[in-house]
Amino acid sequence: MENTGDLFTIVQNELARFEKNFPLDSFRAGDYAQHPFATLLTCCDARVPSTILGDPFNRVFCIENIGNQVRNSQGSVQYGLLHLNTPLMLVAGHTDCGAIKASNSDYQEEPAALKAELDMVKNSLQEGQGERIAPNQDEARCYAEMAELNVDVQINCLREDKAILKRMEEGRLMVIGLMVDLHNQYGDGYGRIYITNCNGITDTESLKKEPALKAAADRIRRLTENK
Ligand SMILES: [Zn+2]
Repeated sequence: MENTGDLFTIVQNELARFEKNFPLDSFRAGDYAQHPFATLLTCCDARVPSTILGDPFNRVFCIENIGNQVRNSQGSVQYGLLHLNTPLMLVAGHTDCGAIKASNSDYQEEPAALKAELDMVKNSLQEGQGERIAPNQDEARCYAEMAELNVDVQINCLREDKAILKRMEEGRLMVIGLMVDLHNQYGDGYGRIYITNCNGITDTESLKKEPALKAAADRIRRLTENK
């Protein structure tokens, strides 16, 4: 598979598969409208697909941008939460995030729009990082910690939106922070997913006491605990 013709064969096959499997009965039952149960904000990294929540068709309102930034897609986030009224929002970061690595490098020569998005990632990292990243440690681990803190910043950013915060406080919206550990930085294996935040709570002992997270207690973990 090298030329675009060959690649388009893949596209054609996938489009045909979508048409063949189109869930017309459930779509009709929902009056042909969209009824997502979750808004998902993830990095657009190809290794963090929206399928972490299963088939996203009419189930997940997906928002993707580099470094999973609320502020770079704020209107889309507001649409999912305030118009589609999803009771759940997930913000997913991941290990080896190119946006986080790039925002820590010299990216001044990048095209303007890309630079602007990286500026936002950089701002988030400065906001979240403080002095919590342990110095002189493994670089991959360091970036994973930054990604985890970046998710916290995005959830704090959601809480700054009064209409969104109101829903959280009234129990109509739960916001969960996830870390997709593609590279076994948490030490439990490649491709594991951890819960790192719930509605702004980042202390793992408190998270484990959250009734809604009871069944998921095993996945509550943080790299940046107690820093
Ligand atoms: Zn990424």
